[in-house]
Amino acid sequence: MSPPLPPPLPEPGPAHVLVVEDEPRLAALLADYLRAAGHQPECVADGALALQAYTERRHDLVLLDLMLPGLDGLSVCRQLRTLSAVPIVMLTARADEADRLAGLEMGADDYIAKNPFSPREVMARVKAVLRRSRAAAFPDVPLLIDEERRRAAWLGRELDLTPIELRLLGTLAAQPGRIYPRAQLLEQLHGDARAATERAVDSHVKNLRRKLEQAGAGSERIRSVYGVGYCYEA
Ligand code: CA
Repeated sequence: MSPPLPPPLPEPGPAHVLVVEDEPRLAALLADYLRAAGHQPECVADGALALQAYTERRHDLVLLDLMLPGLDGLSVCRQLRTLSAVPIVMLTARADEADRLAGLEMGADDYIAKNPFSPREVMARVKAVLRRSRAAAFPDVPLLIDEERRRAAWLGRELDLTPIELRLLGTLAAQPGRIYPRAQLLEQLHGDARAATERAVDSHVKNLRRKLEQAGAGSERIRSVYGVGYCYEA
């Protein structure tokens, strides 16, 4: 009997996205793609409305067109930056370096040219920026993994790990909050999911937890996700 396929890995999670775009068809297209990816879009067609909407609802990410009627995208970006560090992805009609630099100097996190426009690329950037901003919001300073020297430490305290435990911790901690199915962990630990059973993963996790706890990292650092697998909590 072949093992069941692992469930698809979760995306960075649903986000409330403010779309600032004065071209209705483009705004609708972006909203459709965002909804399809599980996000909640809110569209506004000018800069003043964008600032008002953001002030009231504090979105998780702003997709901001550069050329807007009234207050332009750069001014909106500059004003948003006085309010918060919300991730901002600028959209501009031209793949012009000056536009790109101006946006980044105003504090935008990323930039996408609208010609040619690729909603898929926009969604890939949205995902990357969300992931980055969430990782930055929860930095994991206490844990140090030195793969070259095959060692790990918690707050400078050496964790005495087996090579498999080190690989397991490295995999989980590389993306805090991401849930790894047991079968996937098993494959990464042994290179071949048939060489061991998923129970082996549980046993490695148990030992890893004990060692983390002994080093003062607490017992909930590696969370069990019932019926699925494990995830590292930063
Ligand atoms: Ca425009």
